[in-house]
Amino acid sequence: MPEFDAILFDFDGVLADTEPVHWACWAEVLKPLGITLEWDYYRDHGIGIDDKDMLRTLAGLANPPLDWRTLYAEYPRKKELFRRRVLAHPPFDPALDAFLENLHRSYKLAVVTSSARDEIDPLLAAGGLRRHFDALVGAEDVTHYKPDPEPYRKAAELLGARTPLVVEDSAAGLASGRAAGFAVLAVTTPSEVPALVTRTLAERAG
Ligand SMILES: [Mg+2]
Repeated sequence: MPEFDAILFDFDGVLADTEPVHWACWAEVLKPLGITLEWDYYRDHGIGIDDKDMLRTLAGLANPPLDWRTLYAEYPRKKELFRRRVLAHPPFDPALDAFLENLHRSYKLAVVTSSARDEIDPLLAAGGLRRHFDALVGAEDVTHYKPDPEPYRKAAELLGARTPLVVEDSAAGLASGRAAGFAVLAVTTPSEVPALVTRTLAERAG
């Protein structure tokens, strides 16, 4: 098997512990519409999924059902709320900076997220991590979201990578990486990412 030539990281739940913040912001802006968004529901049906798809489902579950565009109209407010919260407290593990710096000496690196690029880019910059990444693929950059292979294929293309390793935490993201034909590493929390990636790379090299 060829060695990896790039590492493609999902963002939320892999590089940053942002899902609880996304959830809290959505819950807050949807509440006035009579929608109670519980963490358990968001965790199972919102993570790794395009926001529009989550809102379509939520609108259908409302009693009486709502037009999903009524919910999507709250997106700018949610986005601004999220931006303010995470820029005030960048949700990165302190060990991440040194890990990525070291990794970037040997591999091209990219972030592949279902979130908006203009949400994630400033956050990476605020955490001092943007310089480690050669590319960032966000929701604006693709026509089909995870679990479609397009986001990971696009990132590999931008990097000129043929045998990247995908690092993901969600079912949709893992399916996207596999559908692109790439090796995938499943993680459950950002704090375990450095150790698991290091081990996977050592195994492939050895
Ligand atoms: Mg994720």
